[in-house]
Amino acid sequence: MKLIIFGAPGSGKGTQAKVISEYFDLERVSLGDILRQEVKSDSALGQKVKSYMEKGLLVPDDLIIRVIEEHIGAKGFILDGYPRNLNQAQALDDILKKHDIQIDAFIYLDVDEGTIVDRLSKRRVCKNCHANYHLENMPPKTAGVCDSCGHPLVQRKDDNPETIKKRWQVFIDESQAILDFYEAKDKLVKVNGQLDKDAIFEEIKNVCNAKAFD
Ligand code: AMP
Repeated sequence: MKLIIFGAPGSGKGTQAKVISEYFDLERVSLGDILRQEVKSDSALGQKVKSYMEKGLLVPDDLIIRVIEEHIGAKGFILDGYPRNLNQAQALDDILKKHDIQIDAFIYLDVDEGTIVDRLSKRRVCKNCHANYHLENMPPKTAGVCDSCGHPLVQRKDDNPETIKKRWQVFIDESQAILDFYEAKDKLVKVNGQLDKDAIFEEIKNVCNAKAFD
């Protein structure tokens, strides 16, 4: 199974990508997590991408496409956070053709702006394993502590009101062209991202199971 999960920042992509990857035994390729790790380790790539990420801007395509090329292979995967513009979608298409790989579904989590602002401003993430929480809808069992690994929860630097606004705008500017691209390939599956996380998972699971028997 080769999947792409797409949606605005805060649409629940990361949460769903994690459970889907576990359920279908797929490699989860999260561009945001990969880049944050590069920044944390102060690598050459990390130094180049840091300022874009802090401002909520997209990292230049040439850097991103190189990263994605390293992570795409024959094994099943779910891509989270890529593509973020039409150029990236086309570059991915070329990479897939080179490896003779087909995407099974492009899953779009559709969520409105009010929900995104609420989710991102109340989001907390584990410093260690990157698990996501929401202060009201998905709180940890002990305040400030990750249920999975016991490390502290923090607010991401780019989850502040100004950067959230910027990231939403970037999404609005770039998303329609990407949706049109995958619709033309008959891969687009729209899922209501306003539902709770278990209901969204059920819907995605049904889509994937149907694709598996196509
Ligand atoms: P995310 O965790 O997916 O919200 O990504 C956090 C930040 O990483 C984004 O705001 C961008 O600065 C950068 N980023 C992640 N994925 C990409 C991508 N495919 N293209 C460009 N920048 C990206």
